[in-house]
Amino acid sequence: MKREHLLAIPIDWKNEPHASVSYEIMMEASELHLISGVEYNFQCVSGLGNDSGWQNSPIYIDTNLQPETEYSYTVQARSISNPGHVSPPSLPYKVQTQAANSVDEIMEQLELIPLVYNGNKNNRINIVVMNRWVENDAEPYNRPEMKDEFLVDVENSVVKALTLGDPDAVTPYANYSAFYNIYALWWPNIPVWDPKRPECLGWKQVQEIRNRLFLPWRDEYTGWVTLLSMLNTTGGGGGAGRELLSRVGDAYIVGNEIASMMHEFAHTATGIADEYTSSGKWGHGSETYNTTNFYQRNQVKWRAWITPETPVPTPYTDEYLGVVGLFEGGQHRLSDHFRPTARGCLMGAGAFGVQHLCPICVQRTILKHYDLVNPIERITPTQTEMQIEGETSIHFQVIHLKPEPNTLETEWRLNGKVIAVNVNQVEITLGSTDHYQLTFSLADKTKRIRPDPPYAAYPLHQVSWIIKNSNPTHDSLPLEIELEATNPSFLGHDGQIQSQVSGGTPPYEYIWSNGSQDPFLSDLSAGTYELRVIDQHFDYATTSYQLKQKSKLDIDLRSVWTKNGWKVDLNSESDEKLNCWWSTGAMTSTVDGLKDGIYQYKVSNTDGVELESEIRLLKPEVSLQAVSEIIPATAGQMDGAVWLNIHGGREPYSVTWADPRLFSDEIVLYQAEEAQYLGPISGRDEGCYGKEMGCLKFEGQAGWIDWQITVPLTGRYPLTFRYKTGDRVTALLLINGNDIGKHLEFPKSGDWQDYQQEVDLQGGKNSIRLQAENQSTLSLDYLSVPQKAWFEKPDEWVRTSLSSGTYTVLIKDANHTAIEKTVQIPEANRFLLENVNLEKAHTNKIRIANPNPDYYYYWYDADFSIHHIDQTIKPIAQGTGFEPERSGNYYLSCQRISDGAISQNRVGFAVTKGDRLPLCSNHVSKTELEPDQLSA
Ligand SMILES: [Zn+2]
Repeated sequence: MKREHLLAIPIDWKNEPHASVSYEIMMEASELHLISGVEYNFQCVSGLGNDSGWQNSPIYIDTNLQPETEYSYTVQARSISNPGHVSPPSLPYKVQTQAANSVDEIMEQLELIPLVYNGNKNNRINIVVMNRWVENDAEPYNRPEMKDEFLVDVENSVVKALTLGDPDAVTPYANYSAFYNIYALWWPNIPVWDPKRPECLGWKQVQEIRNRLFLPWRDEYTGWVTLLSMLNTTGGGGGAGRELLSRVGDAYIVGNEIASMMHEFAHTATGIADEYTSSGKWGHGSETYNTTNFYQRNQVKWRAWITPETPVPTPYTDEYLGVVGLFEGGQHRLSDHFRPTARGCLMGAGAFGVQHLCPICVQRTILKHYDLVNPIERITPTQTEMQIEGETSIHFQVIHLKPEPNTLETEWRLNGKVIAVNVNQVEITLGSTDHYQLTFSLADKTKRIRPDPPYAAYPLHQVSWIIKNSNPTHDSLPLEIELEATNPSFLGHDGQIQSQVSGGTPPYEYIWSNGSQDPFLSDLSAGTYELRVIDQHFDYATTSYQLKQKSKLDIDLRSVWTKNGWKVDLNSESDEKLNCWWSTGAMTSTVDGLKDGIYQYKVSNTDGVELESEIRLLKPEVSLQAVSEIIPATAGQMDGAVWLNIHGGREPYSVTWADPRLFSDEIVLYQAEEAQYLGPISGRDEGCYGKEMGCLKFEGQAGWIDWQITVPLTGRYPLTFRYKTGDRVTALLLINGNDIGKHLEFPKSGDWQDYQQEVDLQGGKNSIRLQAENQSTLSLDYLSVPQKAWFEKPDEWVRTSLSSGTYTVLIKDANHTAIEKTVQIPEANRFLLENVNLEKAHTNKIRIANPNPDYYYYWYDADFSIHHIDQTIKPIAQGTGFEPERSGNYYLSCQRISDGAISQNRVGFAVTKGDRLPLCSNHVSKTELEPDQLSA
C-alpha cells in the first residue's frame, strides 16, 4: 500500500479538543508518517475560534477564547511534497471552555505527568495521584524540590501495584494494566490541606481540577478517572467517594503505602465495599457486590464460589478460614451483614495490610475493567456496512487490549458459523450468498470469573460488519426449517424438538439458543428455543419454538356423613368438565349411600390429563372443628398472622386457604447501580468521606432507572424493590415500555424496606423501568426477581406476613369431610417496646422490673438476630421473668394484650453468668426500622 493512501480517510484524534481553562482549547491529531512529510490543519468550524493554518506539529492550542462557550474543530492532513493531496476533514468535535474562576489560575500551575500511558483517556481507567500535605507532615510535598521524591513515591505505590512481575504488584490490577493510565499531578507550591478550612483547597476545588482535566467523556459508557490525594506519610487510613453518572472518583490516603492506595481506589472505579467491622460505622449497609444482607445460600451473589460442603452462614472456625463462604460482618457492621471471606482481602476482611483482593473482589474488578474500557480499540475496515458485487476478498482486522496472561478467547463468525478462533485478522472471500454478517467477539474466559448471571458472566465485547451482495454467485432452493415438538409434562423436563431442514446446500450447521448443535433436542423444560441453520455457502435461516408445560389436574374431593351413609363429590377446582369412574361402577361426579370402606376413582379432563386415586371412609367419633388465634397487622404493613387449631374428625388434616399466593423461588438480585439510569441522581452522600457502595438516590422528579432482567418463562412474577425514602414517593412502573396502569406508592421509610408489585413478564429479557414522579427523593438498593414463580393456595396452619383483611380457609380431614372458616385480621397501631428495666430476680433469673400490665412478654435466643423478620421463630420463654441457660445475647419482644399487636422492635441484652458480675447489661433496642443498632 502506498503511504499516501493514508490520506484517503480522515485522520484520528490522539487527544480530542479539550478545555481545562476558560480561555484555551488544546487538541492533538494522531501522527501520520509520510515519506514526503506531513502537515496538519485544525479548523474551528463553529464558534468564533481560530484556525491553525497548515503546520508541522500535530498539536494545536487555540487561545483567547470566551469562557463557557462552545467551539467545534476538525483536523486535516496533507503531504508536504504534494500539497494537493489532502485528507478529508474529520467529523467536527464539539468542546466547551471552562467557567472563568480562581481554578483557572490553579490549572496554570499544575503539571499532569503521565507515568503509565496506554491509550486515549476516554477509553481507560485513569488514576491520578496528586501531591497533598497537612500541617504536621515531616516532609511535606509542598515545594518545587520535593517533585522528584513525590514522583518516586507514586512510582513505588500505584505504578508498582500495576506492574506485573513487580514483587509489590496487586492482582488483578497488574494483569489488566493495559486498561489503565497513571498520572502524577504536581502542584509545586500547593497550599496546606485542612478539611476544616474551606479556603485550603477543599474537595469541591480538587474535584473541579479533576473534572477540568478529564471531563467530558467522549463516549457514553467508557472512561473513568480517580484522583487520589496522597500525603508523604505512612500509616494508612483514608476515605473515598465516587459519582457513577459522571464516572469520577476521588480519595485521600493518609500515607503512600500500596495497600491503602489500592483499597481506596477499589472503592471508586470498581465500587467494592469495605469488608471490615471495626473503625466506626457509616453508610446505610446496603447491598454491594462483595457484601450482602442475605444469608440464604441461593440468594448469595457469590454462591458460585461457595462449595456445597461450606455451611452458609459460615462459622469462623479454622476449617473455613481459607475458603469463600458467607461470614457475618462487613461494611463496618458486626451483624446482619455478610462478606465472602473470614480474612484475606485488601478491603479489610479480618486484618488490614493484606495486599491482595479476595476472589469475589477480584471477579468484580475484572468485570468493571470491561465495563469502563472497551477492549476493541480499532477495526479495519472502519466502515461496518459494505456493498459488494459478486465474489470479493476482504481483509478484516481488530486491534484489542489483552490481559496478561492472555485469557481472552476470540472468535470470528460469518452468518453465525465460526470461521476462525484466536486470531485478530481474517481474509474472507465473499460472494456466494446475498447477505453477510461478520462478527468478531472477544470474551475473557479467565478462571477468576465464575459465570452466574446476573452477578457474573464472562466479559464479552463484539463488533459486526454487514456486507450486502448485489450479485450472489450461488443459486439454490431457499433454506427452510420445520420444527416438530412435544411439550414437557407438568413439572417435567421431558420436552423435545425435532428440526427438519430443506433447501440450501448441505452440510448444515445447527446453532440452538441453548448451545446445542444437534438437529434434535430432548430433555427440555418449558421455554423458548431458537434455531439458526447455516449451509455450506453461509446461507442461513432462523426459527423458534415455545414449549409449554402441560396443565395439572386439580380436583376437589369432599365427603359428608348423612343419614343414608357417605355422600362423596368429585369436582375440578377450575370448574372444567370431568369424566369420572368409581369402583362402585358409578360414572357420575357424585356418589351416595356409601358405607365405611375404601373406594377407587379415576378422573380425566378434556386435555386427556388423568388422575387415579382412592378415598378411605371411616365415621369419626367427634365431628371436625377448628378455631383460630390472630395477631393484628400494623397499619399499612404486612405483619399480621393467624394460627389454626384443628381437632375432631379423622387425622391427618389438610388446610387450603382461598387466596392464591404467588410463590417464588431462586430469587435473583439486580443492584440499582448496575442498572441504566438517568439523573438527577446522586450515588453518594455529600462530601468525600461518606460513601455508599450499592444504592442510588433519585433527587426528585424526572429521574428514571431501568433494569434489564431475565426470567425463564412468560408469566406473573413478584418484583421486589428495596427502597428508602424520607417522604412518600409515587412512581410510574413501565414493563417493556408499557405502563402497568397503576402508580406505585412507596410509603415513607427511614430504613430499607421492601415494596412488592406483581407484574406479567415475558420469557427471556425484560425491561423494568421506574420513574419517580414527585419532588421527594427515593433511594433504591436493588430489585429482586424470582426465577420461578407460581400461584398456589397456601396450606399452612400458621400464616404470617399478612395485611389486614378477610381470609378464608378450607379444612379437610382424612375422610375429605370439609369445613370452611373465615378469619378477620384487624389493623392495629404500631408500637415499640421501650424503657424496659431488667433486674436480677435471684441467682439465675432475670425479670422485668417495670412490666406493663397490658404487655405479654416473649424471650428469644441470640440466633433470633438474623431471623428477625420471621414471626414463626418460637420464643424460648414467655412472661415477665426468664432464666438464661448460658452467657450471651438474648432478645425480648412483647404483645399488647388489649389488641393483640406485636411490638415492632426487639430489645437485645447481654447476659454474663458468674458470681461477681452483674447478670445483665447493655440492652439496646433492635427494631426493623433500625436493624443495625445491635452490636451487644
Ligand atoms: Zn474482598
